[in-house]
Amino acid sequence: MRYLPLHFDLKDRQVLVVGGGELARRKVDLLLKTEARIHLVAPDIDARLQERLGQAPHQLTLGKYHSAQIRDSALVIAATSEPRVNTQVAEDARANNIPVNVVDAPDLCTVTFPAILDREPLLISVGSGATSPVLTRYVRELIEQVIPAAFSDLAKYLAGRRARLIQTLTQVKQRRRQMEDFLDSPGMALAMQRQDAKADDYLFATSPAPVSGEVYMVGAGPGDPDLLTLKALHLMQKADIVLYDNLVSPGVLERTRRDATREFVGKRSGNQSTRQEDINNLLVRLAREGHRVLRLKGGDPLIFGRMGEEIAALIEHQIPFQIVPGITAASGCAAAAGIPLTHRDMAQSVRMLMGHPRDGQVNLPWKEFSHDNETLVFYMGLGGLATICQQLLAHGRAADTPIAVISKGTRPDQQILKATLETMPGLVARTQIQTPTLIIVGEVVNFP
Ligand code: SAH
Repeated sequence: MRYLPLHFDLKDRQVLVVGGGELARRKVDLLLKTEARIHLVAPDIDARLQERLGQAPHQLTLGKYHSAQIRDSALVIAATSEPRVNTQVAEDARANNIPVNVVDAPDLCTVTFPAILDREPLLISVGSGATSPVLTRYVRELIEQVIPAAFSDLAKYLAGRRARLIQTLTQVKQRRRQMEDFLDSPGMALAMQRQDAKADDYLFATSPAPVSGEVYMVGAGPGDPDLLTLKALHLMQKADIVLYDNLVSPGVLERTRRDATREFVGKRSGNQSTRQEDINNLLVRLAREGHRVLRLKGGDPLIFGRMGEEIAALIEHQIPFQIVPGITAASGCAAAAGIPLTHRDMAQSVRMLMGHPRDGQVNLPWKEFSHDNETLVFYMGLGGLATICQQLLAHGRAADTPIAVISKGTRPDQQILKATLETMPGLVARTQIQTPTLIIVGEVVNFP
């Protein structure tokens, strides 16, 4: 290991930056997040840099760099476009044993800038000794997925409780144990939600933390696992039991924790689906047993997801839960098909509707759908497609109104059919189209 990663306390220390252009500005922007005093030297200084460094404790010197300016600096950065000047700065710094970074010249550096994941006060830095900045940024993005933004609140909470913890638990070993238990307890999530007082019950628990389960209601999106939210991914890694249904794609399910128990609670073709009441009871029982239960639902759990009933059961039994939204089929399919759901000229509103037929009828207020400047999105509408088209025609929509049927949107085997209200039922009957399918009606379908 040639480079030792260290976190440098720059409070009230001077950092010399040589250079006044774009390269210098990027470094200055980063340095301004610290409490360093910046001294910038350059013959020409970018207006934005002047604005940022125009006042105390910072200092601007217009003119050429002189070796003497390096004195009293804790860190030196050479960011000019002139290799000769950069080399001179690097040599001076080395001669004075001052750490130096030269932008885009790793050979001249004694320190390099890592890619940073900022969850202040938690900082994660990734470096490759400046050999591959693209790779380090990529790795940082991977880490970003597992360290959500709320870690910042957690780190702040723990920083604020440090003194009290040292006072309460005098032995290092005790404290470490308590902290480990805390990070495994629901207290961690509480601190991340800024419920500090409740988190204290776990951090300062005198007896072992109470074993209490919780439920995560998580939107799995329309199928493409890259459309999961960071928060969804985080909870998917945390839960030890996963309850999922039909709409959760295999690619998404694969992102749940390897050793988690996965239980299917949906409807397999032809078979009876698990009764909603049984799912409610199962959630309550598993959480009571102390499990972290992930309830994974396709799309957004709050849209046609019957989540109200599950939440009511959790509230009734006082089980803690969190809801994480997901990308709903309308958004996912529209994006995949390049269809804007609203458009300045074509559609000023969008409605999400349930197209599922009951006793051969789709019961909807059809009269309200006569305006051609509104986009209609039907969920669960394949079985009712003919009725939907018929009703819209009967209620004033033109025969050539564009309609799209999107099957398995955002998945590798996605299919998109476009036709008119008049021709779509026939087209679908001739095509072996598979569920899940989403129907979009309106001028926007023909966009652009
Ligand atoms: N909560 C879900 C909707 C559940 S209702 C969401 O927000 O997306 C189930 C219906 O969603 C399906 O019948 C279908 O109309 C639609 N749907 C879900 N995923 C889909 C996909 N990948 N492609 C097309 N339609 C989808």
